[in-house]
Amino acid sequence: MAHFAYRHSDLCCEQVSLRSLAADVGTPAYVYSKAALLESYRGYDDAFAEVPHVVCYSVKANGNLGVLGTLARAGAGADIVSGGELFRALRAGFPPGRIIFSGVGKTRDELREALKAEVLMFNVESLSELRALDDVARETGVRAPVALRVNPDVDPETHPYIATGLKTSKFGIPFAQAHEVYAEAASLKGVEVVGADIHIGSQLTKAAPLADAVARIAALVKTLRERSIEIRMVDVGGGLGIRYRDEAPPTHREYARVLLPALRELGVTVLLEPGRSIVGNAGILLTRVLYRKETGEKTFVVVDAAMNDLIRPALYDAYHELQPVAEARLDAPRETVDVVGPICESGDFLAKDRALARTEEGDLLAIMSAGAYASAMASNYNTRPRAVEVLVDGNRYTIVRRRETYEDLVAGETVL
Ligand SMILES: *Cc1c(COP(=O)(O)O)cnc(C)c1O
Repeated sequence: MAHFAYRHSDLCCEQVSLRSLAADVGTPAYVYSKAALLESYRGYDDAFAEVPHVVCYSVKANGNLGVLGTLARAGAGADIVSGGELFRALRAGFPPGRIIFSGVGKTRDELREALKAEVLMFNVESLSELRALDDVARETGVRAPVALRVNPDVDPETHPYIATGLKTSKFGIPFAQAHEVYAEAASLKGVEVVGADIHIGSQLTKAAPLADAVARIAALVKTLRERSIEIRMVDVGGGLGIRYRDEAPPTHREYARVLLPALRELGVTVLLEPGRSIVGNAGILLTRVLYRKETGEKTFVVVDAAMNDLIRPALYDAYHELQPVAEARLDAPRETVDVVGPICESGDFLAKDRALARTEEGDLLAIMSAGAYASAMASNYNTRPRAVEVLVDGNRYTIVRRRETYEDLVAGETVL
C-alpha cells in the first residue's frame, strides 16, 4: 500500500496526514487514495493492451460515487449485480455500453431497467433467467445481448463463502449443460448470444485455477463456433486477490500472462470484472482508540469502528493489518490484544490475539486494506450512522460521502 506511508511522523494517505484528516472529518472514516485506485485500474488496462478489452470494475466491491466516477473517467466499464448498482453506475457516468449485468437472481424489473439503459451484456446464470430475459426483451421490443455464466467446476482455493466456481455453488450454469442452454438461447427471438462468462471466486491468490477455468471456457467457445454460435466476448470474471497479510497473489502482468494465451487465439473482446484488486488496497478505515481494558485473561483495545463498518473479520475470519497513525508508537513494547468495536456482539472484533505495539486511549489506528467489501457491506446495526468516506488526491481530499446523521437513520420510519 505504497500510497499509505509515514511522512513527517504521521501515517499519510498520499500527502494528507491521517491525523489532520481525523481532526477534520472525525472517525471512523474510510479513506481512499485516488492514485492507488487509478494505478490498479491502469495495471489491468496495460496488461491486456494487446487484445481488445474492457476492464469492468465490479461495483459491489465499493460503489461509492466518488470511487466509481474516478474509474469511469479513467475509461473503465462497470460490472453490476442489481438495479441499484445500475443506478449508481449510470449516475457515476459509466457509459451503458460498458456495463455488464451479472448476478444469480435478477428480477424482471431489473432486467427491464437494464434493457432500457442498453447495457453491453447480460451474464445469465440459469435457463429460467434466460427465458425471463427473453420474455422481458420481447415485451420491450429489443434483443438482449447475452452471455451465459458457465460454472467451470474448478477449485479456486479461497474462503468457502467466496468460492463460486465449484459444482456445488449456486452460481453459473453447470458446464455439462452449457451446450444445451446455448442452443436454446440461440433459438430465442428476444436474446442475442454474444458472449461466454466465468467467475470462479474472490481473493484468488493462485493462477492455476484461473488458467484451468479459462482453458475450459475457451474450449467451450470453440465447440460453440462449430455449431454456428458465434461468441464475440469472453468475460473472465474478477477475483484476483490482494495482499492483506503475507499473500502473494499474481500481479496484473502475471494474471494476463496466464489468461492471454487461451484468449488471444479466440479473437474475442476480453471483459474483466475485478473488484477487490482495484479498490481493496486503495483504502483504509481510520479509527480512534476509545478505551483499553485488561481482564486478566485478555487485553482489549476498544475502538470507535465496529463490525458494522468492517464485517470481514466477523464474516470470513479475515485478517486486516493495523497501523498506528503516530509513527512514534511503532517503538512501543508489543502486547497481544483483541481490537474490538462497541457493538453488542462477541463477533464484533477487528483483530484477534494480535501482537501490536502498545496503543493508548485517544490514539488513531489505520485498519489497512479496507477499500473493498468494507463500506460496501456496512450496516446501521446498533443504530450506528455509516462512516464518512473521503477520497484523497495528492494534498487535497474530498468528502465523497458524508457521515450519516441520526435523522438519516430514521428517515422513512413511522412512529405509530
Ligand atoms: C463479486 C464479483 C466480482 C468481483 O470479484 P472481486 O473478487 O472483488 O474481484 C466479479 N464478477 C462477479 C460476477 C462477482 O459476483
